[in-house]
Amino acid sequence: MKKKQFKAESKKLLDLMVNSIYTHKEIFLREIISNASDAEDKLRFRLLTDNSEQASEEQKEELFIRIAPDKEARTITITDNGIGMTAEELENNLGVIARSGSQLFKTENADNKDVDIIGQFGVGFYAAFMVSDKVTVVSKAYGSEEANCWESEGADGFTVSSCEKEGHGTEITLHIKADTDEVNYSQYLEPYTLSALVKKYSNYIRYPIKMMMPESRPVEGKEGEYETVETDTVLNSMLPIWKKSKSEITKEEYDSFYKDAFHDYEEPLKVIHTKTEGSATFDALLFIPSHAPFDYYTKDYEKGLRLYSKGVLITEKCGDLLPDYFNFVRGLVDSEDLSLNISREMLQHDHQLKLIAKTISKKIRTELLKLLKDDREAYEKFFTAFGASLKFGVYNNYGADKDELKDLIMFKSSKEEKFVTLEEYTSRMPEEQKAIYYAASESVEKAKMLPQVDAALSKGYEVLFFTEYMDEFAARMLMSYNDKTFVNICSGEADLESDAEKEENETENKSNEELFAAMKEALGDKVSAVRFTHKLGSHPSCLTNEGFLSAEMEKVLNSMPGNNGAKAELVLEINAEHPIAEKLKTLYAEDKDKLSDYAKLLYNEARLIGGMSIEDPVEFSTLICSLM
Ligand code: ADP
Repeated sequence: MKKKQFKAESKKLLDLMVNSIYTHKEIFLREIISNASDAEDKLRFRLLTDNSEQASEEQKEELFIRIAPDKEARTITITDNGIGMTAEELENNLGVIARSGSQLFKTENADNKDVDIIGQFGVGFYAAFMVSDKVTVVSKAYGSEEANCWESEGADGFTVSSCEKEGHGTEITLHIKADTDEVNYSQYLEPYTLSALVKKYSNYIRYPIKMMMPESRPVEGKEGEYETVETDTVLNSMLPIWKKSKSEITKEEYDSFYKDAFHDYEEPLKVIHTKTEGSATFDALLFIPSHAPFDYYTKDYEKGLRLYSKGVLITEKCGDLLPDYFNFVRGLVDSEDLSLNISREMLQHDHQLKLIAKTISKKIRTELLKLLKDDREAYEKFFTAFGASLKFGVYNNYGADKDELKDLIMFKSSKEEKFVTLEEYTSRMPEEQKAIYYAASESVEKAKMLPQVDAALSKGYEVLFFTEYMDEFAARMLMSYNDKTFVNICSGEADLESDAEKEENETENKSNEELFAAMKEALGDKVSAVRFTHKLGSHPSCLTNEGFLSAEMEKVLNSMPGNNGAKAELVLEINAEHPIAEKLKTLYAEDKDKLSDYAKLLYNEARLIGGMSIEDPVEFSTLICSLM
């Protein structure tokens, strides 16, 4: 019999299949089962549209897929009673790699990417050659009398000949390769391996996938003796939980599915189960965990959702389905629109995926807002675990997503030290308060010690405590909320003095210009100016930042690699109502050296209270000692 040749691109793909990396080999079963399931679908559809007597008889027959391994013969046979193929179809369908496949091979440098695509999307029937050195396909098309046999040993080509077969459908026999040093092909002949692969990839195929499973059981009448019997077993669960209607699923079922599928010991905080139809048709079952997984804040953590196409697992973690700021969401998406194999065009894939991702993202946001409104306690628990991700999301991407996220973020505030949303904060601001005030520090305790916070509180203002490194950056990205600007309580923009006090500042600062110039000289470029203020209550001094960078931002930026040298512009403010003010004036008149020491001491004290480190601790302690 004359061998027919594969098309050129198919040859190349075959080569790639055969040499594909080990971990991808197991998808061969998924690919063949998925084709069998399609063939059953096609037959079912055909029967629905056929009024003949034979068709109505056929409709009563069960559609199924059967897997039969044979260790001795080293074969696996996968049978379906679907639509089958004619000789012509065998030649056309199995002789040419899916058109899309050839499309892919035209792209340059495709080889590296392809390997990944094989793992994620597969290339259909050809996957059989990853584990087989020979593949035999016997098929009889529905309504035809004649069966045909297609056979191939890989890249050399294939033969098609007529043969015998009972009933319509397709029977694919894989002749499993001999084991090598690297690959244990024999494992695929083990019923337990095959059963596990079906559960992993094809659990939700809607037709029963059957196999004779060996089972050990006690021999009747003979104590202690066991025999192995084979039981015909359906390996897949067929109906996935997400295909059921919500009203049929109990909370316990959702919870146990989540714990099982996503390896969490705790129930999820929230379950989101949706069906979407329209430009993208898919089911999604999403979970918000009640705690961050142990590796969440490490670079090993990978975001993503499981992606199924018509119940067939495509990938365990599809990162493209979730934006980074929702990276904590676990769950799955099952789409009707994605083809299992490399689809017509990868681009279209992308488009569909993007559409699904966008819909999902919107849904998550809506559900989180609902949670915030309806179950504050749960939301705060959620925010404690994952809020950093949302705040980082506000800042990330040049603020592209800030409007989506601004209503989801919260901060602890001076009012009862509880979480407040920006909406809550701005809606309860006193009328004369012009800005949203925040204090950035490493902890709430330290923030509360800032003299400027005292000043704000005594005016009846609420202050947000920014204690995570991204907080101030997020606020700068937001700029404002409900038309109220974010202002660092330690910046010169914070309006903490009455008009009378401001006026007083102006005259006093003017009349003491020389004193301040002398102090500034002692401090060099550590500060841009020294001046009096009336906002400090009982505190002697504070540092106020003038430019864009705050002292806290300076700290964060300088702690990042390659980012050293950020410098906040600071002004040393002295409490005009504190006895130290008079002392400075006296020293200016009587002892300029001592004035210089005092300036340094006041500056360093202000640094300490402001949560900054002392630049020269030795000089500082010497100064204190000399005063003692
Ligand atoms: P794809 O499924 O993407 O079309 P495959 O290489 O997996 O690519 O299969 C090629 C074609 O062979 C299928 O489209 C189908 O027409 C046919 N085919 C494969 N397996 C079967 C089967 N079990 N029964 C009927 N037709 C099949």
